[in-house]
Amino acid sequence: MAFDLDIEGIGFLAERDGGAPRGRAEGEGGPRAVSPTFTEDDLELDFSLRPKRLDDYLGQSKVKESLGIMIDAARARGDVADHILFSGPPGLGKTTLATVVANELGASIRTTSGPAIARTGDLAAILTNLEEGDVLFIDEIHRLNRMVEEVLYPALEDFELDIVVGKGPAARSIRLDLPRFTLIGATTRTGLLTGPLRDRFGVAFRLQYYTPEELSLIVSRSASILNVAIDGEGALEIARRSRGTPRLANRLLKRVRDWAQVRGDGSITEDVAAEALTFFEVDHLGLDAVDNRLLEVLCVQFAGRPVGLTTLASALAEDPDTVEDVYEPFLMQQGLMMRTPKGRQATAGAWEHLGLVPPEGR
Ligand code: ADP
Repeated sequence: MAFDLDIEGIGFLAERDGGAPRGRAEGEGGPRAVSPTFTEDDLELDFSLRPKRLDDYLGQSKVKESLGIMIDAARARGDVADHILFSGPPGLGKTTLATVVANELGASIRTTSGPAIARTGDLAAILTNLEEGDVLFIDEIHRLNRMVEEVLYPALEDFELDIVVGKGPAARSIRLDLPRFTLIGATTRTGLLTGPLRDRFGVAFRLQYYTPEELSLIVSRSASILNVAIDGEGALEIARRSRGTPRLANRLLKRVRDWAQVRGDGSITEDVAAEALTFFEVDHLGLDAVDNRLLEVLCVQFAGRPVGLTTLASALAEDPDTVEDVYEPFLMQQGLMMRTPKGRQATAGAWEHLGLVPPEGR
């Protein structure tokens, strides 16, 4: 598809989450401790704790192994790696993996996000500024607009860009050769990606929630970088309450560290971690007040009947996208609720978690 080259600057990660649902992270009363979306609080942690090489990236062993093979093969051929898509809930390490892949390839990485590329000209500017072998990382790639997406197709397939120069009868189309590059896309919602875009990725990886054991390794690694004294049980207690998400594990570690400094001798044991996290209202499953309220709405307010997403969201005074992207995936993964054709429903586990007796037949 051809388009007018009309460039007014590029929004390189003007906003880290590009306006994506952020849960209560920015709401009144301070950031929600267990919001998996990126907050200002994470900035300091991000720079120091983000793994740089595949060996430092803990967990996701299957993904790591496949990536390792891809990277070695590309390097051996002296070619660029295939375009890669990472999907999964926020905070699982998609951005981190993109940086790790670039580092392992010995390539530079340019970072942007779907909503930041508002117009085709923005994309043209990004693509023409790439150098041979670069990695282009587009976060929230499902939020690219269709016009921009169509310009991306020939760039991904043939490393070519069609542009229209001039206006009216004098307008003519020219084709530019682009340097060969690797696109890494990240999305929290594979379902929202168009078929043609999905097909242009050579490989797609879905990141899974981490096990407590994997997360405890991440907590221990982060604690040693931050110079915090922690024992194995302390790390595991933080890990158990981090909803399978490294970003949360790092954030909770920081909160527990502060608590231990003020209320204890600074070192983190299982008891210290449990006491601190209870104080911050993160329960033994990693659920906070909003998650528990969601379960309460399903079990008590609607007495276990199926509830539509918008009704549920308004009962929580939340945005439906936030409920769908941020709260529900973990609650479903924990077997506490399910999505049915008729609506959202609590499982017997939800009543149990709330200390209530499920109605007959549940
Ligand atoms: P996403 O892009 O999926 O939202 P990020 O890549 O920004 O998530 O990861 C959030 C934070 O979690 C990073 O700053 C990093 O420190 C940490 N992290 C993520 N994955 C891992 C991992 N596998 N090992 C160690 N730390 C990780």
